[in-house]
Amino acid sequence: MRDRSGGTQVTLKKGVADPALFALLAELPRESVIDVTGTVRKSEKSNRGVELFPDRIDVLTRAGVPLPLGVVDKVSADLDTRLNHRVLDLRKPEVRAIFEVRTALLAGFRDAFLDRGFLEIETPKILRAGAEGGATLFAVDYFGSPAYLAQSPQLYKQMLIGAGFERVFEIAPAFRAEPSDTVRHLTEFGSLDAEIGYIDGVEDVRRILEEVLAAAIDSARRRLAGWANPFAPRLPEVRTPFPRIPFASAERWLGRAGAGIDFGTEDEKAIGEWAVKEHGNPFYYLIDFPTSTKERTFYAQRQDADPSRTWYFDLDYRGTEIVSGGSREHRLDRVISNLKSAGLDPASFEGYLEAFRFGMPPHGGWGLGVDRLVMVLLGLGNVREARLFPRDRYRLDP
Ligand code: ATP
Ligand code: MG
Repeated sequence: MRDRSGGTQVTLKKGVADPALFALLAELPRESVIDVTGTVRKSEKSNRGVELFPDRIDVLTRAGVPLPLGVVDKVSADLDTRLNHRVLDLRKPEVRAIFEVRTALLAGFRDAFLDRGFLEIETPKILRAGAEGGATLFAVDYFGSPAYLAQSPQLYKQMLIGAGFERVFEIAPAFRAEPSDTVRHLTEFGSLDAEIGYIDGVEDVRRILEEVLAAAIDSARRRLAGWANPFAPRLPEVRTPFPRIPFASAERWLGRAGAGIDFGTEDEKAIGEWAVKEHGNPFYYLIDFPTSTKERTFYAQRQDADPSRTWYFDLDYRGTEIVSGGSREHRLDRVISNLKSAGLDPASFEGYLEAFRFGMPPHGGWGLGVDRLVMVLLGLGNVREARLFPRDRYRLDP
């Protein structure tokens, strides 16, 4: 018998237990839901230290046969089959354990944010325009007018800095029409976003990010210790500060100094191996992305001394990007000229620009992929395993 607390052995003794109970259990399909009343006795034999000797068993609902997916089987099904029958898959204690870790991590993040004076926000997910531009926007029909699903809460969290909230965070889905079929991309993913006002440069953002991340992982490890979670020991001890590796150094190491192009998956892996060996920390920042990469978005702040570089950074874990962040442009004239050089029409950003027109503090923040973080910390092979009902290029069900 199994419930959220794990398995409990139910024992029927020949000659002692009611023969009707034997008959009932012999024909009851696996995974049926039952209510058992009986006597609990200490037992060396069972892994929980007790056995339950039933007087009465009520069948609440019978499971259908055959099961499309074994729950207690030792043989493991492939991920596609598991996701097709996700409700049964999630009954496996080792799968549920992933979501215990996720719950504990998010609770840890919330605590860390609240301890630092952040407000939790919920920004709209149906937008007239997307923050990051065209390619990965999902269009929706909004009463006959075009609208889009939010790729990130970027513009709204900045507007709330303009609203004087000063420190905000949001944990919510983000939507990207990612046509690529990889183990790290979903079309709907959990995004943990923060934005911080009155920063003294981007270092403030990186410092708060590493503090919050360390606090969340620490808190998750402590909470899970009481839950007998098999994954808890995999959560790393987080050592801060994380190494800061300039984009240009990583490029030089890759043997393509000054190329200024985005790091691909293989580049990220190679940089990861080098960085972890060099610095002895699985977490490391890649900093100062040039505007020739995709970090050239109009809200990314350019460096005054060298406008071909931004104050944007990634945080990677052993070769996988988990966070992008940076300081944002807070000066209205520069936001407008960045919009224009990106080929965007300032008129269609009026609601956003108004936040800058009446006073905007210097600010910066980040977006962290929750599913990615859970995947890398637990060493899962696929980001889909870290999401309850993942959505990708080919999957809309269940
Ligand atoms: P990548 O280069 O890995 O595609 P990105 O740089 O396009 O990611 P950002 O816009 O920087 O993504 O988003 C912030 C974070 O959100 C990423 O660092 C990542 O952890 C997560 N993320 C972004 N896109 C996806 C996705 N399609 N599926 C899952 N997580 C994602
Ligand atoms: Mg990024």
